[in-house]
Amino acid sequence: MRILVVEDEEAIADVIALKLRQEKYEVDTSFDGLDGLYNAMTNVYDLIILDIMLPEMNGVEILKEIKQNDISAKVIMLTAKSQLDDKLSCFDIGANDYVTKPFHIEELIARVNAQLRNKGNKIKDILEYSDLSLNIRTSTLTCKETDESINIPYREFLLLEYFINNHDQIISKEQIYDKVWGIDTDYESNNLEAYLSFIRKKIKIIGSKVTIKAVRNLGYKMEV
Ligand code: CA
Repeated sequence: MRILVVEDEEAIADVIALKLRQEKYEVDTSFDGLDGLYNAMTNVYDLIILDIMLPEMNGVEILKEIKQNDISAKVIMLTAKSQLDDKLSCFDIGANDYVTKPFHIEELIARVNAQLRNKGNKIKDILEYSDLSLNIRTSTLTCKETDESINIPYREFLLLEYFINNHDQIISKEQIYDKVWGIDTDYESNNLEAYLSFIRKKIKIIGSKVTIKAVRNLGYKMEV
């Protein structure tokens, strides 16, 4: 899953990005409001962490633009203690959560996980589809039928996560590139087919009946 961090204090943005990457999220950063808005408008993000006090354009204005343009990302606002009014108006405009500065990075991460990986009240460490089970913490793919497991490298993990979250749907190459490689990707330089063949082999090795099928001219589909 892909997260945008809009925060002009680069040291804070970098720490947030680092921690999120450790949690296996893909992360992009914007250090001013206009760049943040530009990135947010690409609509490739699952979640946006949005500071309020930003150069060029503040976080509340960005949030308004995001909501008016039906951007699907969840939004967690970062607010200073003195900005209680902003906080309230953010909920009115449609923020999903807020964290008050200064904050513990663990709290922010917990709130991100709550937005993106919660099921009931339990954080989802395991993604499942059919006989497949992908452990987010250990990057291990397991077939529940055979009880065989295999370790999945980072990029393949992101691909698998995206397919499992969108199983039985046709996903276009563009969607995959946007979600897994990001918006600044040179499409030609990433060999999606090669990555998919690695994944297919691993799914086969552990004995799962799940496949990732190429759908002609449209993209790919994970199915049984
Ligand atoms: Ca700021």
